[in-house]
Amino acid sequence: MSDQAPVIAAIEMGGTKIVCGIGTGPHDLRAMHRVETTTPAETLEGVSRWLAQMKLEHGPFAAIGIGSFGPLDLNPKSETYGFITTTPKPGWQHTDVVTFFKQRFNVPVGFDTDVNAAVLAEHLWGAGQGMDPLIYITVGTGVGGGVLVNGQLLHGALHPEIGHLMVPPPVNSPALQPACQCPFHQSCVEGYVSGPAIARRWGQRADTLASDHPAWTEIADIMGHALMNLCLTLSPRRIILGGGVMDQPQLIPLIRSRLIHHLNGYLLVPELGRDFDQFIVQPGLGNRSGVLGALALGRLTLDPTPNSQP
Ligand code: ADP
Ligand code: ZN
Repeated sequence: MSDQAPVIAAIEMGGTKIVCGIGTGPHDLRAMHRVETTTPAETLEGVSRWLAQMKLEHGPFAAIGIGSFGPLDLNPKSETYGFITTTPKPGWQHTDVVTFFKQRFNVPVGFDTDVNAAVLAEHLWGAGQGMDPLIYITVGTGVGGGVLVNGQLLHGALHPEIGHLMVPPPVNSPALQPACQCPFHQSCVEGYVSGPAIARRWGQRADTLASDHPAWTEIADIMGHALMNLCLTLSPRRIILGGGVMDQPQLIPLIRSRLIHHLNGYLLVPELGRDFDQFIVQPGLGNRSGVLGALALGRLTLDPTPNSQP
């Protein structure tokens, strides 16, 4: 990172914790801090207090970047731009995050989903460099995905909600009830493979399931279906899989083999052939993709040129 790179305040907003950082990039994260996610007022105040303290210690920052759990309103023309909207998280529906930080610190605020932030950071500095389109999926407390196409984060009427892609109900364990745990859908990815869904479906915490437990075959099969749909719609050059559930080392090879099985030879490209080991990979930035992505979102508000390298 050059010495001229602006200092950014980064905020990664998760359902259980907020991770904040101050710095210019991955090699210059000067301080990090964690705030528990409680009520919006208490949580945002906690983040704001730390940022104010950092401003005293490290000098002013040029922008703030926020990657947040959603759904979010990302339409700059909307009256509720910068809000967390219809989240199931109690107390957080219709929370105006962007205005809160703009008013406190009077600097530009970049705002996007936590997973769009992560895909951006992985593209700039991690396992997705030079890969476009690029997809980042987290399998953790929830399942979500961010997408980068032509150097830009993908938004539209909303933003990608990859965790709720429909998948066929698993056939090998039909007796396990209830099946899909999503309150909105009857058979979606998150409803089967998020950490809490795995725990309820299989009767024990995901991190305590043995590596040869049949649950992993089913989880890999469901992920294989989801990745097939993404290959067919977005034509990614690489897919990065992160989040707590992906800490199971046996899972990526299993998912690769289910994806190949489901595609059944239909897509004949090097990414799905000769170079397949590099098609589905772990994050290059470990658990820092989210906070570094928030930092990159702050940079983007100062220089929105596609592919501008912080
Ligand atoms: P979050 O999604 O809240 O940001 P994580 O990505 O760490 O957090 O995901 C937490 C979920 O991942 C929990 O439901 C937990 O059970 C699951 N998890 C954490 N570690 C493991 C592991 N080693 N194997 C399988 N599941 C795990
Ligand atoms: Zn769903």
